[in-house]
Amino acid sequence: MKTIIVAGGAGFLGSHLCDELVKENKVICVDNLITGFKDNIKHLLSNRYFDYVQMDICSKEFFDKFSKIKIDRIYNMASPASPVDYVEYPIETLMAGSMGAKNLLDLALIHKARILVASTSEIYGDPLEHPQKEEYWGNVNPIGVRSCYDEAKRFMEAITSAYKRKHNVSIRIVRIFNTYGPRMRLTDGRVVPNFISQALKGEPLTIYGDGSYTRSFCYVSDLVAGLMALMDSDVDTPVNLGNPEERTILEFAKTIMSLVSSKSSIKYMPALPDDPKKRCPDISKAKKLLGWNTRIDLKTGISKTIDYFKSRINVD
Ligand code: UDP
Repeated sequence: MKTIIVAGGAGFLGSHLCDELVKENKVICVDNLITGFKDNIKHLLSNRYFDYVQMDICSKEFFDKFSKIKIDRIYNMASPASPVDYVEYPIETLMAGSMGAKNLLDLALIHKARILVASTSEIYGDPLEHPQKEEYWGNVNPIGVRSCYDEAKRFMEAITSAYKRKHNVSIRIVRIFNTYGPRMRLTDGRVVPNFISQALKGEPLTIYGDGSYTRSFCYVSDLVAGLMALMDSDVDTPVNLGNPEERTILEFAKTIMSLVSSKSSIKYMPALPDDPKKRCPDISKAKKLLGWNTRIDLKTGISKTIDYFKSRINVD
């Protein structure tokens, strides 16, 4: 049984990862709850193989505490991750990807632990190559509203690679494309919770721009399986994980309206600044080197997510 830190373990992805890891490991979930929710892990709190620590990974207290506890593996999932959140918390986002990432790498170094860091398709910016392969270096506005997230994650990839080269730390880097499912916050501003809650309430679905921008949506259980396969693999260069089923945002709005049987209209709003116009992962590397593929199609995954949001609609 391994002892594993999941930084950001009370967030959307982190909490699903904790659910899987705790089946065979001792899990220490660390979260500062700025965008995570204790509710996401409350069902795990009575599990003797699960510990929850409310701490900021950027702090010295965090490093001091965990330098004294033997750790085998670290998943760094800690960061605000929705455009609304990282615009609200730009400094915290930059610090999570820099100071926080360094603290976790230092822990990996002293414990000789393997570390997997959660990077993002956002490092490709508004991509000039499509679909995006891992070899593409990206097209990011370094001072734009999204730069706090994009550049923090680019820095995190750089420092993680430096720890591999300089200190021989065992690293894994995943570039996560749009992922959705239960435990997304209804109010996090992303397109999946926005459209589902608008459709359920009979409000107009808000499309930013003309609806022609594209995204490719991956269901959370597929993503978590990919994270664990990558951690267990010997691949120490970046790997894209996501679902390559690409949709325009207008098509996506129509899919949600039909699955909710909603009579909502569509309301077009101005496009967001620096919003990537297209996004679709090339997942050949993950397929070949991890033997990973997606299993849940969009309709199945969205239906499960709608059920979750129905149960939450009066809560958030
Ligand atoms: N979007 C939209 N309406 C919304 C929320 C988002 O049209 O209410 C668009 C957004 O402009 C982007 C896409 O949906 O083109 C995905 O946005 P999201 O915030 O979910 O994630 P991103 O991929 O931008 O990080």
